[in-house]
Amino acid sequence: MRLLVVEDNAELGALLTKGLAASGFAADVVGTAQDAREALAAARYAAIVLDLGLPDGDGLGVLRKLRERRDTTPVLVLTARSSVRDRVTGLRDGADDYLVKPFALEELVARLHALLRRPGELLGRSLRVGNVVFDTEARQVFVADTPQFFSLREVAVLEILMRRSGRVVSKKLVEDHLFGLSGDVGSNAVEVYIHRLRKQLADSGAKAQIHTIRGVGYLIAEEKEP
Ligand code: CA
Repeated sequence: MRLLVVEDNAELGALLTKGLAASGFAADVVGTAQDAREALAAARYAAIVLDLGLPDGDGLGVLRKLRERRDTTPVLVLTARSSVRDRVTGLRDGADDYLVKPFALEELVARLHALLRRPGELLGRSLRVGNVVFDTEARQVFVADTPQFFSLREVAVLEILMRRSGRVVSKKLVEDHLFGLSGDVGSNAVEVYIHRLRKQLADSGAKAQIHTIRGVGYLIAEEKEP
């Protein structure tokens, strides 16, 4: 699996490349925010390991740009900043996990495996849950090979649920994912999109269901035959 490691400490970068390779990850290492943006524009990565303190800026800027493009590639933030405020900022800006330096390579590998564990198959550029397929490049949804038409925002909500299928996605994360698309994200907007998605998925014979986990968020999972 191909990873992008954004780390300006060359020694640590080399150590990570070697250690990750031993765990079956092929890592491209870049040392600046600019190189990270170029790498992300040129290639698709299974996950990104992102240092925050970079010589030409803040790793969080790279993260924000990524999420603004509605790219939901899992991001693990790696940093010496251990304050609660920095952690909250990183997670609010769309990081999926956080590891404070110094850390054990084993822990990084374990966390990457957790981030990449997706019950929904990741088939190249497509995500699949049951008979629902989401083409992440064309941004087109199919149910049993029949194209479905959803609004931009509904598609964005479905994408984040499908990228984390089988796992609970907090309502806050869904809202953050919508942020940046035009218009307001009203307080009950997410519920409205979920309601519409559920209805259309059910009407089109989808073998996947969006569950509400009260007080926590949402989860999409394959609907097993009874
Ligand atoms: Ca650094």
